[in-house]
Amino acid sequence: IIDMKGIYKRFYIGQPNELEILRGIDLRVKKGEFLSIVGASGSGKSTLMNIIGALDRATEGDYVLDGVQMRDVPDSQLSSIRNRKIGFVFQTFNLIPRTSALSNVELPMLYAGMSGGERARRAKELLELVEMGDRMKHMPSELSGGQKQRVAIARAMANDPAIILADEPTGALDSATGRLVMDLFHRLHREQGKTIVLITHNPELAAETEHIVTISDGRIVSRQQGGEVRAAV
Ligand code: ATP
Ligand code: MG
Repeated sequence: IIDMKGIYKRFYIGQPNELEILRGIDLRVKKGEFLSIVGASGSGKSTLMNIIGALDRATEGDYVLDGVQMRDVPDSQLSSIRNRKIGFVFQTFNLIPRTSALSNVELPMLYAGMSGGERARRAKELLELVEMGDRMKHMPSELSGGQKQRVAIARAMANDPAIILADEPTGALDSATGRLVMDLFHRLHREQGKTIVLITHNPELAAETEHIVTISDGRIVSRQQGGEVRAAV
């Protein structure tokens, strides 16, 4: 579902300087896989994720996202591809501050043109799925970090995306809360067949995923099998 070949990303920081951040990334992720990306700070993980998620484009190289050759997609259509195919989860949650949990989850469906009744029905269902059914009217400021992240995950699922991209989703949470968030990703993977790409600094969490890709200085330096069985809680 993700097929990248020879991806380079360069940032121009004023002539004659340019920064080469990604240097020939080849990455294939099959539908339904749970993969993690690890690597030092500054190695290019978020830059890569932005390209995978159609938030940004590669400077060079080939990227086919769910059958769509991204090179052929005009800028004007990037956001609609993104809204349909990708669900994002970030370290800092990125919820819209002065609107309820329910409205936050409805937003991607509004952009997709879904009717109001259908939106509300599905948003409630998703909030129940992440066990936030009793906090639907709460504003983000009235939620704990772990609760915010669960709302963000419900929002990421709104348009039933093929891929969920999570950039350090447990980075701002204590380990018990991070564990709950991670369990939720495992459920979405197992029960709904979601393709999940997780960026994490936590090697234990990475080891739970099926594949672990290590990035160093803009290159993939290893790809290992994960899928370590977790001790029953
Ligand atoms: P972290 O683990 O700290 O989140 P990362 O692996 O996600 O790190 P990136 O955010 O991908 O790292 O950044 C990689 C490098 O690219 C950094 O040196 C950063 O300064 C540079 N970079 C990222 N975005 C831009 C930009 N828009 N313009 C110039 N340089 C950038
Ligand atoms: Mg990053």
